Amino acid sequence: MRIVTGTISHETNVLSNIATDLEQFRKRRLLYGEEVFDYHRGTKTPVGGLMDGCAMHGFELVPTVFASATPSGTITAEAFDTLLGQILEGIEDAGVIDGVAMHLHGAGVAENHDDIEGRVLAEVRRVIGDKPLVSTFDLHANHTRLMVESADVLIGYDTYPHVDGYERGVEAIDVIARLLDGSLVPTKAFRQPPMMPALQAQFTGKYPMSRLIEEAHRMEGMEAVETVTVAAGFPWSDFEDVGLSFIVTTNDDQALADRLADELQDLAWGMRRDFLVKPVPVRDALRRVKKATGGPYILADIGDNPGGGAPEDGTVVLRAILEEGLEGGVLAVMWDPEAVEKASTSGIGTQVTVELGGKTDDLHGKPLEVTGTVKTVTDGKWIVKGPMGTGSESDMGETVVLLVGGNEVIVTSKRLQPMDLELYRSLGIEPTERRFIVVKSSVHYRAAHMPIAVEVIELDTPGLTSPRLAGFGFKKLRRPIFPLDVEMLGITELKSMDE
Ligand SMILES: [Zn+2]
Repeated sequence: MRIVTGTISHETNVLSNIATDLEQFRKRRLLYGEEVFDYHRGTKTPVGGLMDGCAMHGFELVPTVFASATPSGTITAEAFDTLLGQILEGIEDAGVIDGVAMHLHGAGVAENHDDIEGRVLAEVRRVIGDKPLVSTFDLHANHTRLMVESADVLIGYDTYPHVDGYERGVEAIDVIARLLDGSLVPTKAFRQPPMMPALQAQFTGKYPMSRLIEEAHRMEGMEAVETVTVAAGFPWSDFEDVGLSFIVTTNDDQALADRLADELQDLAWGMRRDFLVKPVPVRDALRRVKKATGGPYILADIGDNPGGGAPEDGTVVLRAILEEGLEGGVLAVMWDPEAVEKASTSGIGTQVTVELGGKTDDLHGKPLEVTGTVKTVTDGKWIVKGPMGTGSESDMGETVVLLVGGNEVIVTSKRLQPMDLELYRSLGIEPTERRFIVVKSSVHYRAAHMPIAVEVIELDTPGLTSPRLAGFGFKKLRRPIFPLDVEMLGITELKSMDE
């Protein structure tokens, strides 16, 4: 059997002023043909899973395009049309095929399509007719009716931090095999409760998300249930299908799919108050850490997460650290190619003064003038050793460590969410020996950092990924939606939304 695969992966934050053109994909990862396999072979990633799944079933996997950009603003029409065209061409050029297994993100928005994955799947369907079409999705997918109707089976991650991409890739090929031998006749139910949880409330390691995932797994244990997806959604895609959704796929039993999807929807709605997030004021957290002994305390700058499209050059936390006189910490990371250039030119061991960060927009603090010693300069490349994307290469671009006020500030040329401890170790920093680590991340840092943390504190920082969703002025969401309308109206008792 010959199965074709392709990927367009982007979590679009339409409020970001970093335009997502083809160059943004090239900067992160844009691979063609065999390059797709060379990069993913042996990695614990979705495409690594598709490759191994095909090997296990004796299927041939045919690559087309793998395009992934760091979360940023709306994808240009030119970039989207080019990538989609290349995937469709790749499928046509593959000749006689038996099915398609895509890996998509699910929260991509282009200038010409609010729902790029719906568009991709509909176009692939048009080309392949009634052959099996299966796709894996990120947990942050904003699923749409077009996506659900275009693919035979949709398989979302069950985890955030995303540590099951590989398993979902293997599962996608198992599902294709069952579609091909006729033992699976998929019947699907799709539900979108009026809920848009903030990223920080989507952590699957604790209630309330853990409860939904547990319920999905219980259902997957039932006789005629094939797969259940709980997708938490990504608010900043700002279109009508944004938010929490459920897809229940059963084997030739529509009534069961509908009943289970209704049950999940009711369960989520009943828990909605528990999806509210209460971060800690920055100064309160820093003063607590200053008084404490031991470490590391993990301080999450949740408003400036590049994984959600924030610039990662916010200065609010660093400024507060220097003003409070905290020492012995690490800041991961500050994206500032200009500062990297100046510091690396100045050289290791020299003192340098730079205007650091705050250069992308006015939502993440002003540039901060700091004087520090250049401790380390590297090419910023390292291999992931932790549980997320194990074995894949990370690339921060040229990177320097600046010693500022007794703290190590990691300054990078490319935007990369700090998720893995190898980030520090590649720079000669042993994270377990530091008093505190500031991570610009909403949830992904938890997978590798929680095991070493004395305590994790979510900081109430401003920025594009803040959980204060009412302040963003979203324009295209379907309304009313929880918790936005409740916050806007100042209603604390939610009874009025129960009707
Ligand atoms: Zn995600």
